[in-house]
Amino acid sequence: MNAPIVSRSGRNPSRPWSLFLLLCGTLLALSGCESAGSSPGSSPGGARASGSLRVLATTGMIADSARQIAGEDAEVTALMGPGVDPHLYQPTTRDQRRLREAQLVLYNGLHLEGKMVEVFESLSREKRVVAVSEEISPERLLAWADSVGMHDPHVWFDVGLWKTAVETMIAAFCEADPPHAADYRARGAAYLIELEKLDGYCRQRVEELAPERRVLITSHDAFHYLGRAYGFEVVGIQGISTESEAGLKRLTDTVDLIRARGIRAIFPESSVPRAAIERVAADARVLLGAELYSDALGPADGPAGTYIGMIRSNIDAIVTALSGELK
Ligand SMILES: [Zn+2]
Repeated sequence: MNAPIVSRSGRNPSRPWSLFLLLCGTLLALSGCESAGSSPGSSPGGARASGSLRVLATTGMIADSARQIAGEDAEVTALMGPGVDPHLYQPTTRDQRRLREAQLVLYNGLHLEGKMVEVFESLSREKRVVAVSEEISPERLLAWADSVGMHDPHVWFDVGLWKTAVETMIAAFCEADPPHAADYRARGAAYLIELEKLDGYCRQRVEELAPERRVLITSHDAFHYLGRAYGFEVVGIQGISTESEAGLKRLTDTVDLIRARGIRAIFPESSVPRAAIERVAADARVLLGAELYSDALGPADGPAGTYIGMIRSNIDAIVTALSGELK
């Protein structure tokens, strides 16, 4: 098994973020809106030496949410572009330079970035490296079926869980750049309201499906949080990590399930090869629905180029295909 998740440096991961923000605000007030307890640039990876705070996020989902908090006070870049699989991603030499140059690194954690655990551990000795999932309590996490003691990392599919991740990001921005804490908090609060609306939209769309139609079959096991939050039974023909290939038995079991339940559509994913899901669709003579965005956003100029767009696009595609509106 891999090493445990890296916690935010210099901070107790179990401390509620709201308490931290309160403390942050108090320190700001006491220090007359100067950076908390240190002059800018005095600590490596801490307050800014000059210009905007440089933030590097691993996935597009984290980068997009971080940009909503950052506004013009920080510059956020994503390590992984559209269609990139984070389970298998290994940083290039150029990526390693970007990781070194960033003042704040945001990653998903829960071993989503399975090949980067050692990179994060090493970086956390010199700068702020934050797993955005770290404040989600273990009771709200699902088990990783193939790995004892580990949790399913695909937390962004339950918008309620992602709100907790966004709260962790807000706290990280505030900690890394105290002079702009009030702005980060204000933009973060506005974004959390948008996420609340998104959660409501998902629930409303699912209501359009008869309960027996709420079965979601996809390329890999990414959608269990979506299933739990919005009431779908979920089957992935590959495991939680795309590292394991779909076994023949799992393929034939899935075909049997589709036939037995009269399921109308199954779904390929943007960041997973389509061969296995296409084979199941052909064998079961079932419709292949629109491609779902699972572990990466769509192209920046498309409808799934943001986190909110990705979630809306997925739920729309699922409801449309499973309701039988696609022929
Ligand atoms: Zn995945």
